[in-house]
Amino acid sequence: MEFLTEELHHLEEMGLYRRPLIIEGVEGPFVVIGGKRYLSFSSNNYLGLAGHPRTKEAAQRAIETYGWGSGASRLVSGTTTLHEALESALGAFKGQEAAIVFPTGYMANVGTICALVSRGDIVIGDRLNHASIVDACRQSEANFRVYPHKDMDKLEGILKRSSLYRRRLIVTDSVFSVDGDLAPLTEIVELAKRYGAMTMVDDAHGTGVFGKRGRGALEHLGLEGKVDVQMGTLSKALGGMGGFVAGSRTLIEYLRNKSKAFIYTTALPPAACAAAMEGIRLIEEEPWRRETLWRNVSYVEKGLRDSGFNIRIESPIIPILLREARRALEVSRMLFEKGLLVPAIRPPTVPEGTSRLRISLMVGHEQGHLDRLLEALEAVKDSFH
Ligand SMILES: *Cc1c(COP(=O)(O)O)cnc(C)c1O
Repeated sequence: MEFLTEELHHLEEMGLYRRPLIIEGVEGPFVVIGGKRYLSFSSNNYLGLAGHPRTKEAAQRAIETYGWGSGASRLVSGTTTLHEALESALGAFKGQEAAIVFPTGYMANVGTICALVSRGDIVIGDRLNHASIVDACRQSEANFRVYPHKDMDKLEGILKRSSLYRRRLIVTDSVFSVDGDLAPLTEIVELAKRYGAMTMVDDAHGTGVFGKRGRGALEHLGLEGKVDVQMGTLSKALGGMGGFVAGSRTLIEYLRNKSKAFIYTTALPPAACAAAMEGIRLIEEEPWRRETLWRNVSYVEKGLRDSGFNIRIESPIIPILLREARRALEVSRMLFEKGLLVPAIRPPTVPEGTSRLRISLMVGHEQGHLDRLLEALEAVKDSFH
């Protein structure tokens, strides 16, 4: 098995080797690494719910009642009152009849897409869809077609040429996870209607962040009820762990009966359900979290523009393009030396030649923190050419 060493060596040379940072503690937007505090711009915990006293307490209470693990898959004996309650809460939160919870967002995508389409069907997606969607589309055995990022003419072309398939499914991220831009959902919904295709939207980064009430990108765009399959995660703004799909009662019942990633895996720990439910309550009760987050987004956008970065920002995810993987890594290291954690995102997460820094903003970032980020970026600006 020499290829293992060879491949690892090759990755190292290309600047593509990956090793995790070891986090020793978390204090608001700060993380401790090697005994030192770093200001983090790398977390999807947008609303600070991962460390909120109420989510922590809800999890602790659930552990007292149910224990830590659920002990079985959902359809055997792993479904507790908390799973049921969370699914109702998610259905209501998303303005849908029902919802189903999976142990991760990744599994929600695989479990749903593979249950909806198979051989004889076609699944169509944006080129920059999240890896879990891409894996799901491949695994489904349906014919899998991609269109260039947000290219609606190309999508329409594929729809025109695919009328003979049994079922057609269009699937897209709502907020693209490494570019931070929004999919043209209004157009996608319109095209799907015109050509009789099903629609599925992955709102992992929209849930809790977009919309007047934090319900996500569909609320933001006035499209609630217009998408067949609404996928989301409990792992980003909700600050925990898990994935879900919201939709019609029939869709949810179908997935409960047909989705392998739901059936053949151990249920999410009840404590994760309790914490997610408390997270939904906090999103509803404390809109200031979302408002502060968006103020932070505007502040950083203005700061970057003032520094001469030609940038358009649509979400708390801010990509700063460096193109070459080694350079992205180098700039990320320079920022790390200044006490800032800003990850370099490289292939295969992003296409070749589009390596970047990925800044994510959180409600816990104070103005002084954002100024530190802007000053540090200004100082390393010469690397961005
Ligand atoms: C993070 C993410 C997922 C996967 O969710 P997990 O809960 O981390 O498994 C799926 N889709 C998108 C767009 C994501 O950003």
